[in-house]
Amino acid sequence: MSRDPRYDILFEPVQLGPVTARNRFFQVPHCNGMGHRDPTAHAVMRGVKAEGGWAVVCTEEVEIHPTADVGGFIEGRLWDDADIPAHERLVEQVHAHSSLAGLELVHNGMAEGNFYGRIPPLGPSHLPVTTNEPTQARAMSHDDIADLRRRHRQAVQRGLRAGYDLVYVYAAHGLTTLQHFLSRRYNLRDDEYGGPLENRARLLREVLEDTLEECDGRAAVACRLVVDELLGDEGIERAEIEQLFALVGELPDLWDVMVGFWPDDSRTSRFTHEAWTEEHFRGIKELTSKPVVGIGWLTSPDTMVRLIRDGVIDFVGAARPSIADPFLPVKVEEGRLEDIRECIGCNICVTGDWTMTPIRCTQNPSMGEEWRRGWHPERFRPAGSDSKVLVVGGGPAGLEAAMALGKRGYDVVLAEAGRELGGRVLREARLPGLAAWIRVVDYRRGQLAKLPNVDVALQSEVSAEDVRDYGFEHVAVATGARWRTDGVGRYHTRPPAFDPTVETLTPDDLMAGTRPAGERILLFDDDHYYLGGVLAELLAAEGKRVTLVTAAPLVSEFSVNTMEHARIHKRLAEAGVELATAQALVAVEGGTARVVEIYTARERELPLDCLVLVTARLPNDALALELGATPIGDAYAPGTIANAVWEGRRYAEELDGEPHGDAVPFRREVVELAPLGEEVSVR
Ligand code: ADP
Ligand code: SF4
Repeated sequence: MSRDPRYDILFEPVQLGPVTARNRFFQVPHCNGMGHRDPTAHAVMRGVKAEGGWAVVCTEEVEIHPTADVGGFIEGRLWDDADIPAHERLVEQVHAHSSLAGLELVHNGMAEGNFYGRIPPLGPSHLPVTTNEPTQARAMSHDDIADLRRRHRQAVQRGLRAGYDLVYVYAAHGLTTLQHFLSRRYNLRDDEYGGPLENRARLLREVLEDTLEECDGRAAVACRLVVDELLGDEGIERAEIEQLFALVGELPDLWDVMVGFWPDDSRTSRFTHEAWTEEHFRGIKELTSKPVVGIGWLTSPDTMVRLIRDGVIDFVGAARPSIADPFLPVKVEEGRLEDIRECIGCNICVTGDWTMTPIRCTQNPSMGEEWRRGWHPERFRPAGSDSKVLVVGGGPAGLEAAMALGKRGYDVVLAEAGRELGGRVLREARLPGLAAWIRVVDYRRGQLAKLPNVDVALQSEVSAEDVRDYGFEHVAVATGARWRTDGVGRYHTRPPAFDPTVETLTPDDLMAGTRPAGERILLFDDDHYYLGGVLAELLAAEGKRVTLVTAAPLVSEFSVNTMEHARIHKRLAEAGVELATAQALVAVEGGTARVVEIYTARERELPLDCLVLVTARLPNDALALELGATPIGDAYAPGTIANAVWEGRRYAEELDGEPHGDAVPFRREVVELAPLGEEVSVR
């Protein structure tokens, strides 16, 4: 099939100064938790994006010098020439597919404590760094400013030697010195770099001019700019942006615009909708003749076309949609819209950066595994035998296993006990804010329907006896997990004294439609990710008086890593949920719960009608144990949906493969040792 002409506009080439982008699909810079530590894994991941049709493929933020590192975060580096080969490899991967490689340089300044280099950070003013690290930035002198400009130039030169086609000047996400100088909130200077916007923009203008001079027609220059810090008149807002464009609007070859700080920019589907940035981007193009790229969780080609036709943006900016489906552009081009694996907006990808581990994606289990394990988002190696495989369970693990096995060419039967495919995703996507998660099921169900070698059997609960009768050579048991009813979890590793006469519900009960009889609900969240908060929101919306008790100091604590924590707290507080953090439920007797403060051991009593336990799950592994098979997904060890999908893929990838034995089961790069140095003896 070929593409529908209504998408032609997405495939028009666009001139970017001295270079041409072959279409309007633009993978904006995004972090990936691999960076300078896993350079080949990173390079190959970017190459797959280029192969998938993104005309411009960018790095994450790349540090220009050790005086402004990105804390412990694993990003890119161009500190000196030793860092160039890693970038050459990335550029080579991107160029192999005729895409342009973009380099996002960063001077983090007061955004980080600079703990790696141990050199006190620099910023426009004497202010604490914007993280809560016990460090202050020092107000930059004129010599410091000259150093920054020189080092930025040097990094540009190195980037050009590595072969980049596009170099960024970065003033966005609250993460860069150029933004801090621009912003009234952080720039308290009274010299020619402070005060009126013209002065606050001086450093940005100088660095743009330096970069243009260095690139000198060999590469395009982009400026990534926050067009509203969402701080009202405390920060950069539209009126100033209009002034700024009057000053520097024609300097770069491309404007890459964004809104707010990183948690605003990459907000999850629980808190936003597609094209949410549109209202902020409207009118920007009228301020400049240069092309504009912007993001906005853009996953639908029709929305992309509309935004371009309406003159809001010239390029479809994407980080997450390109992570979930690196082949999105190719699929539009080939008229295969139904094959697009749409991002669900969960931010599991972001947790890679925050936990400093290689990026993973709920929808795309090959993300971060392209080189490490040789997985590809679209291509599967052929089946290693003509075995028939039974997959039991149609949740995310079973769906992915059946799909990937089917694509490898195996004959597969997917047996699901329920009336619909989807398992936990089917249930969770019905909860407040999680509707987009159903895309995990939609994509796989659509793919399975296209595979004649995969039979889906619904309402087919499978027993060990059935399996033995059917005579499959391989059985993947993906039977999921169930929430515990006894309170065992992180806090109580043995069943606590909870009165069995008090109505007690689990997430499974609530998701199945059961509702508490009484009004006063105590929800004990010992899971610490999204579900406790989501269920509290659900019950509060239905008029219950909910107290959420959690031993963690923050509500839904792991969501710090998905950058949702502040929004979750706000939503629950506004819904009237009482948040009892750093407290644990120790006992329930009749209508009274005993709660202990974690740090002081002080106890208090709370009245309750119903207890909701979001503590831990037990794997449904009875069938697997009976068969002597290894379960996959939540039936092996309960975890995230991303983990279940990844496990399904791993099962499919490794079937008929060589066992890893004791070997490291993935490729990695080991640091090359430097000479010990004369002044250091062997002690
Ligand atoms: P995971 O996240 O690991 O994919 P889920 O809990 O989402 O696990 O899905 C497990 C699926 O397995 C559910 O849809 C459930 O109905 C199904 N299931 C459980 N036991 C059986 C069985 N014996 N036969 C067929 N399907 C089963
Ligand atoms: Fe989208 Fe979630 Fe994948 Fe990130 S992890 S790209 S938010 S589906």
